Amino acid sequence: MRLVTSERLDVLDELRVPYELVADADQAASEPTDSFPLPGFAVLRQTDRAHAPRLRWPSDSSHIAGSSRLHHIDGIPFFARLIPDSVLRELSIQHGWVAAVDVLDEAERRVGSVWREPDGSLVLPFGPNEAIRNLTMERYRHLDGPGDAQRSSGFALRAYYLLRPLLPRRLQLAMRRLFSRIQARTSFPRWPFEPARHDLARRIYSFVVEITDAPPPWIAPWPGPYSWALVLTHDVETAVGYDKMLEICALEEARGYRSSWNFVPRRYRVEDARVEQLTHRGFEIGIHGLYHDGRDLESVEMIRERLPAIREYADRWGASGFRSPATQRQWEWMGLLGFDYDSSFPDTDPYEPQPGGSCSWLPFFIEDLVELPITLPQDHTLFVILRRADASTWIDKAHRLRDRGGMALMLTHPDYMTDPTIESAYVSFLDEFRRDPSAWQALPRDVAEWWRRRAASHLEPSGDGWRVVGPAAHDAAIQTKPPS
Ligand SMILES: [Zn+2]
Repeated sequence: MRLVTSERLDVLDELRVPYELVADADQAASEPTDSFPLPGFAVLRQTDRAHAPRLRWPSDSSHIAGSSRLHHIDGIPFFARLIPDSVLRELSIQHGWVAAVDVLDEAERRVGSVWREPDGSLVLPFGPNEAIRNLTMERYRHLDGPGDAQRSSGFALRAYYLLRPLLPRRLQLAMRRLFSRIQARTSFPRWPFEPARHDLARRIYSFVVEITDAPPPWIAPWPGPYSWALVLTHDVETAVGYDKMLEICALEEARGYRSSWNFVPRRYRVEDARVEQLTHRGFEIGIHGLYHDGRDLESVEMIRERLPAIREYADRWGASGFRSPATQRQWEWMGLLGFDYDSSFPDTDPYEPQPGGSCSWLPFFIEDLVELPITLPQDHTLFVILRRADASTWIDKAHRLRDRGGMALMLTHPDYMTDPTIESAYVSFLDEFRRDPSAWQALPRDVAEWWRRRAASHLEPSGDGWRVVGPAAHDAAIQTKPPS
């Protein structure tokens, strides 16, 4: 099967589905075409099939009136501009299209449709790239619609973080718990599990399947034989955590795990001998801000000012990854810090000072940077703010991520593990998955390295099937079932 498209489709790129990009994909086949051109729409079709139906969607460059809003398709929430039925109705009557799938607005009213042409071609009323990017890049946070609770609490929350150093600890906690109740009312992203982005990708893949002979092949997200990934990371906040961390290392080693430890270079003393010893034992070291003052990503000027010092510590410790304090993040700036990977985007976290999330449980690229999203709730949120008593939220979510072939990336702090409830919950979590042969227990730097190799590899026809070509050829697995 050969696919051609006139425009990149992010969902297919992420899956590594093979296709060719050609400007006039609509007419590129030698076979006659039943379909008429639709200006402003991108097109995908199979070339080695006569009268192949098309999948069309509004081109990235086409002008759609209005702003991106919340919609639903088959119960999946997404944010995008929409070409409503009222605009496409005339075309649909002219060409005999039928409404195949409803697109609903926030109030569950039907406002648009995926149209089916008489030859089986499909027309999407929204741009799939826009819909996926609005989630990954957290653009939905600045759109109309849900998140109003977040916005109204935004000012109070900023004021709180400004005043926090002046407040006694008990009052700090009481206020955080109060905010958490407001934050919990956020309707999107849902917490602790938000499948919208991956559900939408799967739905778009299913539209591609509808217009092709067979499901297009793609490269599995994880190296064989693994079906999901489990990644343990820690941020060492203060000297208290620095003193506690070796106990946690021992707990992990006893269960066959290794993890990454993100240090703050200028907040407490980090001994070279400690770094050497951890590295020797198979742990990874990363950087967790320069001072942990929430200012590293304040402006491009600040990044430039701090960069030499940050790079110096990264080189000294062999650190290839960065975790921003308080998950502070700015899509366009993360790459300026010069790391191989960043791990500062939650998938969903309404409780952080910067609430939201990428809705992704797989790594993704920010330009040339690999982003490894934090996909399990943080220990402080779960046990201190929400006062949970055990590991069940962690374990439940990890099971759901395992079912969907995702990456369970955990962030805990040795500083809080001085609390026996948190430490024993962590140990239960480790015990739950220690003998799971389907889990790739990997260091974040290994996941980033794999993600680059996978992205640099592609599928080529081979005999009756397909083969992986490129740096992931020896350990990548080929899939033809729908992505999960
Ligand atoms: Zn921190």
